[in-house]
Amino acid sequence: MVEIKTDAALDAMREAGRVVARALAAVREAAGVGVSLRELDEAARTVLAEAGAGSPFLGYRPSFAPAAFPAVICTSVNDAVSHGIPTGYRLRDGDLVSIDCGARLDGWTGDAAITFTVGTPRPGDLDLIDATRQALDAGIAAARVGSRIGDISHAVGTVARRAGCGMPADFGGHGIGRRMHEDPHVPNRGRPGRGFPLRHGLVLAIEPMLMAGGKDTYRTDADGWTLRTTDGSRAAHIEHTVAITDQGPRILTLP
Ligand code: MG
Ligand code: MG
Repeated sequence: MVEIKTDAALDAMREAGRVVARALAAVREAAGVGVSLRELDEAARTVLAEAGAGSPFLGYRPSFAPAAFPAVICTSVNDAVSHGIPTGYRLRDGDLVSIDCGARLDGWTGDAAITFTVGTPRPGDLDLIDATRQALDAGIAAARVGSRIGDISHAVGTVARRAGCGMPADFGGHGIGRRMHEDPHVPNRGRPGRGFPLRHGLVLAIEPMLMAGGKDTYRTDADGWTLRTTDGSRAAHIEHTVAITDQGPRILTLP
């Protein structure tokens, strides 16, 4: 069931989104060569705690997962696409890092992700990040009253394909509100003019995941969570929580 939010709920979600943005900024600031993924998780935990916010990630256990998620951020490095668990791994020069973070404040949820490089970027990584950001921007631009979910999917997928990138077929964006994952699903590819109609008060997490090798296949690590490219190519994941409004798309996870 799709829940349409009141304007008061959108304002409350904006506050949750601000906390997510602060946590991601703190992680970005803390990241560097030699810093462990667990230390990045600690940086995000500190921001959530100071804001009085909870984590929709910590303890999350969807049907596909063998165990509850143990952290407040996902850390996906190099050929990891998404859902990476923060471990003791220490970042190395040239690593490509995607961080996904959520926050729950006053019962409302925000969800966003960033991708960045550590030290000297490897060839192609900045282009991959750029393409992923453009795919997200195109998806947000399509998130307008009177359009449909398929218009967002088509916009995201078109940019990704033009960049020669693959996208994991089963993962995409989602409705969001009191819960992190609500209806409708927002695929990262699709046909324009199809799917659920966009209305004022619908809130969506839009999140392109691009794989540089161009294939859509992925595999899951033995931990049951981490998604990786099958060809070893690198991946990027960027996400915002976006409200559809009569005034146009409102990004709720900006700083
Ligand atoms: Mg996310
Ligand atoms: Mg999400």
